[in-house]
Amino acid sequence: MAEKSKISKKDFTRREFLELGSASIISTTFAKPIFGKNEDSGTKPSIGMKYRRLGRTNLMISEIGVGCASGSLSKTLGPFLFHKWLRERGDVFNKLLDLGGNFITTSPSYHNTVELIGKTVKHRRNELYLTIAVLPDSKEKMRASIEKSLRELQTDVIDLSFSKGSGTDEGFEAMHKMKEEGKIRFVGMSCHDPRMHEWAIKKDYLDWLHIPYNRMSMIKQGPADIPGAERVLKLAKNEDVGVIVIKPLTGNFIPYWANQTHNSEIQEMMKKLKDYGTKNIYHAMLRWILQNENITAAAVGMDTVQQVIENVEGVITKEMTSTQKELLDLYTRIADKDYCRMCETCTPYCPKGIPVPDILRFGMYYNNYQWGDYAKSLYNELPEYKKVTRCDDCGRCEEHCPNQLPVVKKLHRAHAALTNRKTSFAV
Ligand code: SF4
Ligand code: SF4
Repeated sequence: MAEKSKISKKDFTRREFLELGSASIISTTFAKPIFGKNEDSGTKPSIGMKYRRLGRTNLMISEIGVGCASGSLSKTLGPFLFHKWLRERGDVFNKLLDLGGNFITTSPSYHNTVELIGKTVKHRRNELYLTIAVLPDSKEKMRASIEKSLRELQTDVIDLSFSKGSGTDEGFEAMHKMKEEGKIRFVGMSCHDPRMHEWAIKKDYLDWLHIPYNRMSMIKQGPADIPGAERVLKLAKNEDVGVIVIKPLTGNFIPYWANQTHNSEIQEMMKKLKDYGTKNIYHAMLRWILQNENITAAAVGMDTVQQVIENVEGVITKEMTSTQKELLDLYTRIADKDYCRMCETCTPYCPKGIPVPDILRFGMYYNNYQWGDYAKSLYNELPEYKKVTRCDDCGRCEEHCPNQLPVVKKLHRAHAALTNRKTSFAV
């Protein structure tokens, strides 16, 4: 039997929660964060959204905000869905602010999300911390990128700018110069490789950072000589560098599992989700992350207003219920056998130069995210000598996978799906 949410008992009714978008309630319920000062206090509205200090920036940011990575896919949706997606951006951003969230993070490479933020929440600039990427390039191109984002955002300063993908001495020096000029307030980075985070923290380049972190990536940390996410989090805490994690909800296995009727363990999971409510697993994932005192907040991909409501509902009470813990443990145990952490440990061991993590990621897009055409187009863009057809099954990638995934089998299944020879592949 489903557990009753503690939220309605403790703070307010679900109906009241859903109605919080109305201006009259907001005006009496929320005090707005102060914009433009490092000593921002981040008041706590009665809805229950909590705020944490983002390291040395001293900004008090909400425990969750919106991440916009899915915007990069909008151009593949087709005209109808694309326009629907466009129309809903403003509603999503505004609902987040209505419910006490105060940051949105995106990149100029995620379609026109930067421009959309400018168009839809410009009038609420004093409630919002803008978190915008700059691609690591020449200092001239980085400056041009920041200037373009400022124009599109219709503002004169970006609160939290970050180098996306990696970083260089030249790039960080350029960002700090723009910080001195007042175009950005704080310098950060976003990367999948914890070694890059460690390097940039030790160089004292960072005020804050984005790092992938979720229940799945914690299970295995990689070889002892490679820093895992947890080591970076501790170092960041020691150096007073704020942390906003990305990819908090793992690999979107649930829609994919719905068709796995042959697997009794998965079917047991699906039954529990049906009984208890699927949102409980996402609440558990967010609560698990926020229990870590080395983390400031999570950037969560949210495509609809309903997702904003459910995710906020999930974090306003941090305590994890026993049901949620059971669901999270079960989910983790099943997905552990299939989830590539994109740690890239295997990459240097492939004698053929096959980009294993990329191909497994395209497979995840195809299968878990159901982004069929987009996933196929990514695989199709790889040169032939990097495709799975070149693999001779030597197994070296698999031997070096710290997560003990059946890498070779997964590669072949991904190739079959991405080249139309098979429509899905099982765990
Ligand atoms: S099994 Fe294939 S992908 Fe893995 S290391 Fe060998 S050639 Fe590379
Ligand atoms: S296959 Fe294993 S080693 Fe390679 S990126 Fe994925 S998790 Fe890391």
